[in-house]
Amino acid sequence: MMKPLISLVALAALAACGPSTQATPEAPAVELYAMDCGHSTFTDVGMFADDGSFDGQSRELIVPCYLIRHPSGDLIWDTGLPEAIADMPNGLTPQSFPAHFVVPTKLTAQLAQLNLAPADIEYVSFSHMHSDHTGNGNLFAASTWIVDTDERTRMFDAEHRADPTDFNNYNQLENAQTRLIEGDADYDVFGDGSVTIIQAPGHTPGHTVLLVRLPNAGPVLLTGDLWHLAESRERRTVPRFNTDRAQTLASMDKVEGLATETGARVIRQHVPEDFASLPAFPAPLN
Ligand SMILES: [Zn+2]
Repeated sequence: MMKPLISLVALAALAACGPSTQATPEAPAVELYAMDCGHSTFTDVGMFADDGSFDGQSRELIVPCYLIRHPSGDLIWDTGLPEAIADMPNGLTPQSFPAHFVVPTKLTAQLAQLNLAPADIEYVSFSHMHSDHTGNGNLFAASTWIVDTDERTRMFDAEHRADPTDFNNYNQLENAQTRLIEGDADYDVFGDGSVTIIQAPGHTPGHTVLLVRLPNAGPVLLTGDLWHLAESRERRTVPRFNTDRAQTLASMDKVEGLATETGARVIRQHVPEDFASLPAFPAPLN
């Protein structure tokens, strides 16, 4: 008797979905959009390896933002360089930093191509607190912020409050609706395993990576600043400015293990080739 009943339920579910959707209850219709949120031209990338192996080399890094669209809401993962740089005719060359920043298109202008404004985005999360990831943080002060407890504590400590240049890009998040990630736990953003924030500390106290399970493209790992340059992953280089060397290497092992276990496509966020391998915005990976 059960079989006809189940078939009827399945038919009813199909009818409710309509003929155009391919989504199934097992695989929510998640989409991943990769946006160009800046370029960093480094005259010296020595800071990205504490063994000196990158000293004196120059390199171009991409600074992406990601929008993950889920039937239950939108998540912005990393917000790029401040979009105000787009209004600077010659870009920005920070003092005491061997890099030049440009922002070709504002994040808000890119979201507008999808008929979205920052206030429409339900969730915001950053791989970590650095200014090329939190540069547009305040745009999402009305969103729910998902953040590791240690990272949040560091972001609002006295040292960071005293340096308004970067702090003022995200300071309004202090009063945002906030979901804290405690300890070493993963955080399942939508409760169905499709979008998971994974702890990978060491670059900063609460650095995280994002595992997105797409219905057609399969699992994708957005790895934050675990690896900055194309060679960093294979060579296991640890940047000079990381907060904890041993923790960094342990996080690399953890994420490599997760990539093997899930078969995920690994995106090294700052590597131009990895960014270029994703569909050009506004096309999504799904
Ligand atoms: Zn970065």
